[in-house]
Amino acid sequence: MSSGKTLSPLFGITTAILSLIFLLNENNGLAAPTANMSPSPYIVVVDPGHGGHDEGSSGKLGKKIITEKEIALGIAIRLSRVLAEPDYWRPLGRPVKVVLTRDRDKEVSLEARSEIAREKRADLFVSIHANSDPSRKAKGVETYFLNNTDATSTSKLEQIENRLSKKYKNARPDASLLLRSITADAVVDSSRSAAQTLHRSLVDHLKAEDVSFQDRGVRQALLYVLLDAQVPAVLFEAFFLSHPQDLEFLQQGANRQVIAEGLAKGILRFLALQ
Ligand SMILES: [Zn+2]
Repeated sequence: MSSGKTLSPLFGITTAILSLIFLLNENNGLAAPTANMSPSPYIVVVDPGHGGHDEGSSGKLGKKIITEKEIALGIAIRLSRVLAEPDYWRPLGRPVKVVLTRDRDKEVSLEARSEIAREKRADLFVSIHANSDPSRKAKGVETYFLNNTDATSTSKLEQIENRLSKKYKNARPDASLLLRSITADAVVDSSRSAAQTLHRSLVDHLKAEDVSFQDRGVRQALLYVLLDAQVPAVLFEAFFLSHPQDLEFLQQGANRQVIAEGLAKGILRFLALQ
């Protein structure tokens, strides 16, 4: 019986030469791109507002207390899942990697949140909150971007959302704040554009889903969580926990999913325009 396993010495040499050519090509960067080379992802930092001892605002539905921190986390986690779906990001040609500033109920300082955006060199930073109004009359959705020079910025919102910043406790227009404002100015235009795009997409999506809501538009405020981000940054206020209709809407998971889908569409549209 002749052995079919015996290979000629020539075969061994040919294989060695081919391997060497392949290695040389790889080292010179001449190798053809392989099918599994994936493009680098967009980085979106999604920031569920508040957490831990800082519950944010709250609303009462019967005996149940619904807190801003849990609503914000619920929307943020859904948003991260939607953005991970290839059907959503495929038209962009690049996947979207979401980094959550918190994925559970824990306290994170405002400084640490914006530091994550800086460190990751995020393409976009989206902070998610739910609103509150002492008169209980206000309702609807609004989107903020940072602007520190405009006198019409909303001081009430600033007081609410800046509470957990150590710096805010003795906040005044000091030199450090002015310097940081100048840095933030570099991204004001892109942040304004991001806020407008996100808000438009969300509003369109809510209308398409037959949601009855009030559109409070795009606004600007001096918000610490956006001040040091140094990347395009927006803060979204999803409905009012202080308004019975809004609260009823927010407490249903299916509705938080609708909000997440609307935000995801806006984020993808903003990234596509970059
Ligand atoms: Zn908040």
